[in-house]
Amino acid sequence: MANIAFIGLGNMGGPMAINLVKAGHEVCVFDLSAEAVAHVVEVGASTKTSAIACVQGAQFVISMLPAGKHVDAVYLSESNGLINHIEPGTLVIDSSTIDAATSCKVAKALAEKNINFVDAPVSGGVGGAVAGTLSFMVGGSSKEFSQAEPILEAMGKNIFHAGEHGAGQIAKVCNNMLLSVLMLGTSEALQLGLANGLDPKVLSNIMSKSSGSNWTLDVYNPCPDVMENVPASNDYQGGFMVDLMAKDLGLAMETSLASQSSTPMGALARSLYAMHAASGNGSKDFSSIFNLFNKS
Ligand code: NAD
Repeated sequence: MANIAFIGLGNMGGPMAINLVKAGHEVCVFDLSAEAVAHVVEVGASTKTSAIACVQGAQFVISMLPAGKHVDAVYLSESNGLINHIEPGTLVIDSSTIDAATSCKVAKALAEKNINFVDAPVSGGVGGAVAGTLSFMVGGSSKEFSQAEPILEAMGKNIFHAGEHGAGQIAKVCNNMLLSVLMLGTSEALQLGLANGLDPKVLSNIMSKSSGSNWTLDVYNPCPDVMENVPASNDYQGGFMVDLMAKDLGLAMETSLASQSSTPMGALARSLYAMHAASGNGSKDFSSIFNLFNKS
């Protein structure tokens, strides 16, 4: 079992840290929110007064923070960056969804101190974090991937080696850009059927057994009351927030610009999700975009 420092105990990081404790690891946790810390300490984690104190003596440091600027500051800040306190040979696993450029910058700075690093963003949402069934998309060397794998297995079901540093973040934005486009296409097709008198359950069944079949239609249907236990049938509460999808699409556009790629569907999806968030839907599930195509 390993000594692990875990920084960032929000909606995702909290349950991920709890699963590491349940797997028998020694986990020292830190978050700016005392309440978030208390929740994980309750199940057996320890805590210290700062992130710096937590990482001392740790074999692994895991972070689950909101955005690139937080990851940059936590590791590289001149005044209190963890880079000056993590021991050589330690593996840093950053599971935040951030821009690949920041992941590569942190990886390079840590490597100069003989500290290993992988970017390991996740898919699977809060439900996957609680159940320990997340998918991890890992960027780093083969050696770093092998070092990370046994730790990630306590929090996830599918662990993929995407490539070198930053590749995990690129895989994550490609996946979420595709997911947003599928959700938009599924929503407009279902609304077209509804506007022409079809029963959405019947239409969903037809399309899911035909060439229009896809995850947003078959597993996460955006039309209320077609499926039970999906956010659409619960007033779009829970699930994956519009604000987070808008953030990920912003990262996809930055990635597209950096490589001068053509991503017209992603660009349209980013605009539609930004508009949807600006209309007061930011905290709803991303399948609520279905209502954008509502005729009434
Ligand atoms: P969150 O806002 O619930 O949690 C972030 C936590 O980081 C907060 O508890 C905050 O207090 C803490 N934090 C911020 N700065 C800190 C610092 N300097 N030191 C210590 N703690 C600090 O966010 P979340 O939903 O847990 O998401 C975390 C990351 O995972 C994001 O990058 C997000 O895009 C990604 N993600 C989220 C989901 C999801 O469904 N929520 C799914 C996949 C990926």
